[in-house]
Amino acid sequence: MKERLPRNLEWKYFIFNTMKSEILNKFCDPNGRSEYMKKPFINGDYVLGTDAHIAGYIKKELIEDADGLETYEKDYMEALEKAKGSNIYNVTIKVDNLIKAIKSVEYDNKDEHLCPDCEGNGVVVFEYTSVDDCSYITKDTCPVCKGEGINKNYEYMSLISGWFDKKNNVIDIQGCWYNPLYLEKLLFMMHECNVTTCTFVRGEPNKCGHFHIIDGVDVVIMPVFHSDDISNIIKLECENEKKEVLRID
Ligand SMILES: [Zn+2]
Repeated sequence: MKERLPRNLEWKYFIFNTMKSEILNKFCDPNGRSEYMKKPFINGDYVLGTDAHIAGYIKKELIEDADGLETYEKDYMEALEKAKGSNIYNVTIKVDNLIKAIKSVEYDNKDEHLCPDCEGNGVVVFEYTSVDDCSYITKDTCPVCKGEGINKNYEYMSLISGWFDKKNNVIDIQGCWYNPLYLEKLLFMMHECNVTTCTFVRGEPNKCGHFHIIDGVDVVIMPVFHSDDISNIIKLECENEKKEVLRID
């Protein structure tokens, strides 16, 4: 990781080193239900990449191939604004602490990440009885994992080189819970922007969190809803923690 540049230089560095829209691919879902989830798109002044659980967005003028992207007219940015929590935190997240938290995720590389319905084959066999009482044995794509063969509760994270159970691991930032995989994507964006800190701007338990990386680059992450069933709650250490938060309604 390169050293963080002084704030004013950082901005200059950034505008002379524009990004390609493919950076936002990490936030998209190639198998997404909607077209807009599959690749980055233009929305207002921003280029957005989203899978509907996380959104990375970058000012259009910082994306060198923005002209070739599709534009979606529906105001996605407004929806993002509304989704954020109303507590203002403005605490600093250091890259080292973020890595430390992500590495505290309990993971395993056993076969438990295979889809329990099709045992990883992606195909299920079932019996069908027709109206005239004939019985058929037929095979079809597993409806649970959609043929991918992967247990939907498990996600692969490159930073730990392993699978983790997202039903049992969350990272806690000021009492707000997030899926470690999405914080790994945040880390990726910080790395791309050449910074070693970002700011947790807004959020509240069970609401989206807003992370500011650099002028013109932000990430919004859906929360993990608080539940007693989660066994590994990893607290992310932050700088400038404030005891009281300012709430806007
Ligand atoms: Zn399956």
